[in-house]
Amino acid sequence: MRVFDHPEFDHHQQIVFGCDEASGLRAIIAIHDTRRGPALGGLRIYPYADEDDALTDVLRLSRGMTYKSALADLPLGGGKAVIIANPRTDKTPALLRAMGRLVESLGGRYITAEDSGSGEEDMRLIREETRHVSGLGHDGESGDPSPFTAHGVFCAMKSAVRYCFGRDDMKGLRVAIQGVGHVGAHLARELHEAGAQLVLTDVDRDSLGLLSDELGALSVAPEEIFDAEVDVFAPCAMGAVLTEGVAGRLRARAICGAANNQLATPVVAELLHRRGILYTPDYVANAGGVIEVEAQRHENYDRDAVMRHVERIAATVDEILARAQAQDTSPAGIADQLARERLQG
Ligand code: NAD
Repeated sequence: MRVFDHPEFDHHQQIVFGCDEASGLRAIIAIHDTRRGPALGGLRIYPYADEDDALTDVLRLSRGMTYKSALADLPLGGGKAVIIANPRTDKTPALLRAMGRLVESLGGRYITAEDSGSGEEDMRLIREETRHVSGLGHDGESGDPSPFTAHGVFCAMKSAVRYCFGRDDMKGLRVAIQGVGHVGAHLARELHEAGAQLVLTDVDRDSLGLLSDELGALSVAPEEIFDAEVDVFAPCAMGAVLTEGVAGRLRARAICGAANNQLATPVVAELLHRRGILYTPDYVANAGGVIEVEAQRHENYDRDAVMRHVERIAATVDEILARAQAQDTSPAGIADQLARERLQG
């Protein structure tokens, strides 16, 4: 395993490999950057094929959190944690408590939260061992950040639509949403209320059917979503969905969604740009969740203030799109550039 010269290493400050024989814990915590504050990032529990896969994933995600928090103007750095385990079969209280002790050993340099494979209940168990956990909600309310993520994507999409189509409203705008899980379903409802026409897909046919009926939306098979005759494509399922093949196939003129790491390779950003498809950088559009999770850490939680902060995502998207247009380049590279400028202070 290569660490310091790993292609995704990107000057990580600290990488911790944690092991607990009794519970079977095998975990990696990656702290990319703490210049703006403690490194906050979710805990992913996934049955990685091997340690190299786990390391690659945690490094990529952790760097992404640094950039996301910097562009969302949060007093946070970037970090992430992974446990190599199957969340359906291997997730025991002993394993989660051992993870809590590992997080505690970092003394607050890393703050954990839920991510795919881990949920609010798991965070409560981890909380028994460390207070460096967020996303547990306030005053008995759920800590689920998805509605905030969805609202941020909605605001980012409004900016992208203004740039692309020169219009301020969503009435009649045709949007294809890939994945109607936690974020996708909230986004679909918000777009429906704003008058958009929706094309939805999901591998979970039951939830897809229910939501399509509720919103009067067209539902299509997962593979057909890329060919939908729409204005905007919103990836809200998994990462690496924008491959070279998909970039050449999409009918939409704008992309704006919640999924992390949407670009399968950096080349795709260039391809989309050449095809005249506006790509809204994922970690800018989907920062609503981390804005909410950060706010939940503080005693004086104020939901309206969180919403106002989430809505500022639109201004950041405006800035990125204006610079990208002026330089005739993809917004993806401009977002990275802007994040690095903010990190430099
Ligand atoms: P989720 O698991 O609740 O929803 C994902 C949905 O996508 C599921 O319904 C799943 O069945 C569907 N799906 C999976 N593969 C698919 C495929 N090939 N085609 C169509 N549908 C498919 O997850 P979520 O919390 O809604 O998050 C969605 C994405 O947004 C993820 O990539 C996540 O990392 C990212 N994200 C989420 C948040 C948040 O607040 N939840 C914040 C930032 C980023």
